Amino acid sequence: ALTIGIVGLPNVGKSTMFNALTKNDVLAANYPFATIDPNVGVVPLPDPRLDRLAEIFSSEKVIPATVSFVDIAGIVRGASEGEGLGNQFLANIREADAICQVVRAFEDADVVHVDGTVSPSSDIETIHTELILADLQTLERAVPRLDKEVKGKKTDKAVLETALAAQRVLEGGRTLYAAGEAAGVDRGLADQLGLLTTKPFIYVFNLDEDQLADPELHARLGELVAPAEAVFLDAKLEMDLVEMSPEDAREMLEGFGAQESGLDQLARVGFHTLGLQTYLTAGPKEARAWTIRQGWTAPQAAGVIHTDFQRGFIKAEIVSFEDLDELGSMAAARAAGKVRMEGKDYVMADGDVVEFRFNV
Ligand code: GDP
Repeated sequence: ALTIGIVGLPNVGKSTMFNALTKNDVLAANYPFATIDPNVGVVPLPDPRLDRLAEIFSSEKVIPATVSFVDIAGIVRGASEGEGLGNQFLANIREADAICQVVRAFEDADVVHVDGTVSPSSDIETIHTELILADLQTLERAVPRLDKEVKGKKTDKAVLETALAAQRVLEGGRTLYAAGEAAGVDRGLADQLGLLTTKPFIYVFNLDEDQLADPELHARLGELVAPAEAVFLDAKLEMDLVEMSPEDAREMLEGFGAQESGLDQLARVGFHTLGLQTYLTAGPKEARAWTIRQGWTAPQAAGVIHTDFQRGFIKAEIVSFEDLDELGSMAAARAAGKVRMEGKDYVMADGDVVEFRFNV
């Protein structure tokens, strides 16, 4: 499964947020005998459509899609100098599919800031700098080797060109993700080189309660990281929310003028940043969301349920959630001509409600 690595300077609220995430862990709740990795939090992707499907199909239970977060401790200013970033830290980041940086915005005289003052922009820069330096070190080693290999016709010239283009971006002080495609760095090749800053970044601003209700502050902080996505939450409040009943939590959130918890927002943004989407299935047993990549075809999507479904794929019977919701039953959707038969080239749309037909 794809995972999002959580990084950040010490004392910004990473552990607090991660503890809230793991308290919310669907594995811990639903699979008591699963091996639980204390560094991984598997959280549900909130999806109100599932409750509606469960209503329509009288499903016994609802199974949401999930997003996995990994706690990656250990980054500090200067970490890439001297001994370099810890090997374990680098290996952990390399394994993650996206990077979520927790940034402190809350003021609290009792919680020491490593640099003495609370400054979201300089915290972001500190982490960026360490990751950029780590990538530059990787390239310093790779370029002479690639140069030789290209001359010996053992490596494609495009790989060397990607490495050199990446070096220019990084020397200019930008991450490869922020520089984007326009910088001429092929994402696939850069990943092959083991570079870290090509990964998508998400930013979580850890606020105090007053700051939660300050849209101007959110806009200002969001601008620091745009076009990357930002989530605004109060890690301490999230800790309290996961311990409450859903009703109490909702009431508490409404008090702050929020529709959903910060963790729910984070799950949603994380899922989207990873390039994932869901399709839905429903029956008397369960209403369920299945995770696929954007752009996947119907047989690929079927393969997520079972490889036999992909191998023996015949067709998919599909109705959009919106149509089904409006019409209220499969029979009514059929009568209205809203249920389509799609073949093996069909590209799945988010919110497709599907039944696959296959040979075994
Ligand atoms: P980490 O080092 O980044 O993992 O930070 P921790 O989660 O251990 O938090 C460091 C300290 O900051 C702890 O004493 C937390 O209780 C406190 N803390 C975390 N989030 C908040 C917050 O939103 N507001 C305030 N006032 N304190 C917080």
